[in-house]
Amino acid sequence: MIMSASFTFAVELKRRDLPYHREMWKILKNVYNIRSLRTNQLEAINAAMTQHDCFILMPTGGGKSLCFQLTALMGAGASFVISPLRSLIQDQVQRLQSMKLPAVHLLGDAGSASTRHLNSVYQDLSLRNPTIKLVYVTPEKLSASEKLDSVMKSLYNRGLLDRIVIDEAHCVSQWGHDFRPDYKKLSVLRSKFPRVPFMALTATATPRVQKDILHQLKMTKPKWFTQTFNRPNLRFIVKPKKKVMEEILQYIKTKQPVSSGIVYCLSRNDCERVADSLNEAGIKAIAYHAGLSDDQRTQCQEAWINNRYKVVCATIAFGMGIDKASVRYVIHHSMPKSLEGYYQECGRAGRDGQLAECILFYLYGDTNRIKRMIQNNSDRTADSKQVDMDNLFRVVQYCENVSECRRVQLLHYFGEMSFEPSQCRAQPESMCDTCATSATFENKEITSDAKAFVENVNSIVHGGNRNWRKPVKNFTLNHFIDIFKGSGGSRVTSEGHDRCSLYGLGKSYHRNDAERLGHLLILQRVLAEHIMIGNHDNVLSYVKLGPKALDFLQGRVKLPPLPVREKEKTVSKSKRKELMDQTSGSNYTSSDYTTDTGDTYDESANHSHYW
Ligand code: ADP
Ligand code: MG
Ligand code: ZN
Repeated sequence: MIMSASFTFAVELKRRDLPYHREMWKILKNVYNIRSLRTNQLEAINAAMTQHDCFILMPTGGGKSLCFQLTALMGAGASFVISPLRSLIQDQVQRLQSMKLPAVHLLGDAGSASTRHLNSVYQDLSLRNPTIKLVYVTPEKLSASEKLDSVMKSLYNRGLLDRIVIDEAHCVSQWGHDFRPDYKKLSVLRSKFPRVPFMALTATATPRVQKDILHQLKMTKPKWFTQTFNRPNLRFIVKPKKKVMEEILQYIKTKQPVSSGIVYCLSRNDCERVADSLNEAGIKAIAYHAGLSDDQRTQCQEAWINNRYKVVCATIAFGMGIDKASVRYVIHHSMPKSLEGYYQECGRAGRDGQLAECILFYLYGDTNRIKRMIQNNSDRTADSKQVDMDNLFRVVQYCENVSECRRVQLLHYFGEMSFEPSQCRAQPESMCDTCATSATFENKEITSDAKAFVENVNSIVHGGNRNWRKPVKNFTLNHFIDIFKGSGGSRVTSEGHDRCSLYGLGKSYHRNDAERLGHLLILQRVLAEHIMIGNHDNVLSYVKLGPKALDFLQGRVKLPPLPVREKEKTVSKSKRKELMDQTSGSNYTSSDYTTDTGDTYDESANHSHYW
């Protein structure tokens, strides 16, 4: 049913008495068993039913699918849903078909059964009144199949191409964390089918990505539906990655002995190793990664969803479209590649609205592994690799910012500038590690120390010639931090670096703060790291001047002050633990991220085997 669009919108969007609403509620109750709509669902459906382009931003689990499924079911013709992954499509279509809804996919693979299936779909769509309402397709199929193209054109010419839906629309943007080149080609749909309304949906989009999505898809005047991305029931925690396996085991055993969780790992190997360790400790875990066949993956998902396994140890291939309500924790065994990805992965916890914890184990050394993955990714151009690097550094910044509320950091990154830390602390318990800490911070002016740091990188690495493209010696950032701290023993003295002007200059810095200073210089591109592959296929990362080094030394680039813990106000470790246990019921907080000067910080943890 199509409505005239000439009414005042804001009010009209909330109407519940439009002609199709009776049918809509009937479907909702009888088929979906849903009795009320969630934020923006009614508004989006009303806008779509009145032929508007819609741009729908909703957090993971917010209920985006319902917006296009309902509109499709009520339309006269067929809607096409573009979705990035076969598994996602199979999942959704299976679910719809199990509810006896007329949905199909076009995931033709080679077999004759699938040819028959495709032909029967095409045949139905060429009927005067097609029975199929929802057609799921990958962008690859869409740009490759001429047959599909002509079927869509014929539908269009007969006024039966109801809507084009672009799910996971952030894949359109190369600024996003999950860019897919075939998504970019979707822009041709607008010129091919100019009168067909679009609906783009995503759970993660920074303001920049949002603009880019609309631009790429040529959606000039969409109705825009956005809502807070805050998930109040998720607790965000960053922990230094030291004895990570021990900590994960202890956490699950003591805090989550019976609940379901996900442990995200960087590589297939990590997945297997972590799953093995968990199983050895009596926690039923299964590994999930791209090395498994389609069937194995489906089995793995189902086993976890049905609680035959408590924990799934997965690469990021896992989770899109997975709908398990009672996930109590998401652990990142290694740092994620982007904040968008991170937030989406965390979003899989606590969909039932109950408390869930998101724990990220952070080690700067892990950036080297990710950098190598970025460099080796042949799908990416030099420009988009730079985007990946920026996204990675944004994660470093997040992990190292121990003074600001995690929620504020995340939500501001997603453009929700009005979010206040009080909304995180207002809970009965603080809902992030930085809010839970009792420490106070002072802003430390670091410019002159940083200049000495850079000057010494110049003299030691570049022989003093200030040419950032030409390092003559290889030293790690950690080596310079040792020099700065006046530590490092014979590794430093044997090079005579205990005689340079940087030596011991940062004695009063906490090791962590000295590292943050180094990382800040890299984030600002004053310093850079170049990675090399060692003899044992290990990744080595060496520091050199960055493109902004001169600008910094000459005062054209300024560094923000570094918030560091005020020493006199820090409480003792035992006292703090007590406090933590009281405030969060957990000793899994950032409390040991920046340790007191009294603590012996495990420095060797920073010298991972990548160095
Ligand atoms: P996403 O926004 O991540 O795509 P989905 O569309 O997959 O989320 O929906 C997540 C879950 O929420 C699904 O199980 C869906 O059936 C359910 N859901 C969606 N809308 C409602 C609603 N109004 N009431 C109850 N459950 C809903
Ligand atoms: Mg979805
Ligand atoms: Zn907070």
